[in-house]
Amino acid sequence: MKIHYLPKFIRVLVFDIDLTLYDSHEYYDSQKYLFMHRLAQHLGISYQETSNKVAAIREEYRRSNEKRSLTLGQTVFELGISLEENISWRNELFQPEDFLTLDLKLAKTLEILQKTYQMAAVTNNTSTIGLRTLKVLGVNDYFPIVIGIDISKESKPTMKPFNMLAEKLNIPINQMLSIGDRFAVDLELPLENGMGGILIEQVSEVYELPSILKNI
Ligand SMILES: [Mg+2]
Repeated sequence: MKIHYLPKFIRVLVFDIDLTLYDSHEYYDSQKYLFMHRLAQHLGISYQETSNKVAAIREEYRRSNEKRSLTLGQTVFELGISLEENISWRNELFQPEDFLTLDLKLAKTLEILQKTYQMAAVTNNTSTIGLRTLKVLGVNDYFPIVIGIDISKESKPTMKPFNMLAEKLNIPINQMLSIGDRFAVDLELPLENGMGGILIEQVSEVYELPSILKNI
């Protein structure tokens, strides 16, 4: 865990979902594999050729953008895949239920946190997949708001979903804390905009949040 910044007054906890609320790299990697497989079908080329194309686009972007990297969604957009296609492929292909199970410790943790904070999840996945993921982990009840790319229409890194959240809850952005596993995707822009930011390396670190936040 790395605590980058904690505002004095925190009212909203904004969690990333993938690899923040679960550790299964197997599930995470299955998403990449299934999506690339679907993309290969769509482009009518082999999986390997598709991988090479995606890698080349990312490499080119890194070279011209000070080593910043593109998310998968942004990369396939460069290949002509619309946000609508991206969304329907994800909803059709990803199966969190095949990889994840109930996490009672996580549920207990979130139950404690929701007594003090408003809770939301912001994901670069779709809201449907996000909700199914929260459900199989047994924590969907703790997230009254889930913003996926079908709602924000932009994938992180962008302030769009965070700004939508601030507006919806009528709470200033600098009273919100972003918690996620990727600095450049989940934390960098929120920090620049006055939000708090905590980097999570494994879900066991999420279990520590109640005691960490109590001590500030
Ligand atoms: Mg993540």
